[in-house]
Amino acid sequence: VPLGVDTMRLVGTMLGTCCVTVMAEGTCPVLAMKNLMQFYKHESCGQCTPCREGSAWLYHTTDKILDGKATMAELDALHDVANGIMGNTICAFGEGTAMPALAFVQKFRKSFEAYILGQKKHSEATLLVQ
Ligand code: SF4
Repeated sequence: VPLGVDTMRLVGTMLGTCCVTVMAEGTCPVLAMKNLMQFYKHESCGQCTPCREGSAWLYHTTDKILDGKATMAELDALHDVANGIMGNTICAFGEGTAMPALAFVQKFRKSFEAYILGQKKHSEATLLVQ
């Protein structure tokens, strides 16, 4: 797919800040989301409650899912929390946090469910980012 705003839109995604993260085949999307949410949680300046609390919540809940200690309701709440950040912060960092979280949950929901149902284990998850 050619790299461009319109071409990315045609395949159902977006170019965002023009940074592309390439994940190798076999990378666990849940572990990738945890890694990304750890970054956003760390980098949030804390001024806006939705960004400060939401990024922390997204990170901790994803970690809980990986450990097989979360419920399906908490998985659904990931979606609600990310939506609650959208449009409710004073800078675009909030959207930068929420949009990939929403994409991970929407595109890879089965992988999230597999950890909750005990079909996958955190210790076996791999993160291969290039
Ligand atoms: S949205 Fe921007 S200003 Fe608000 S807490 Fe996050 S980084 Fe800070």
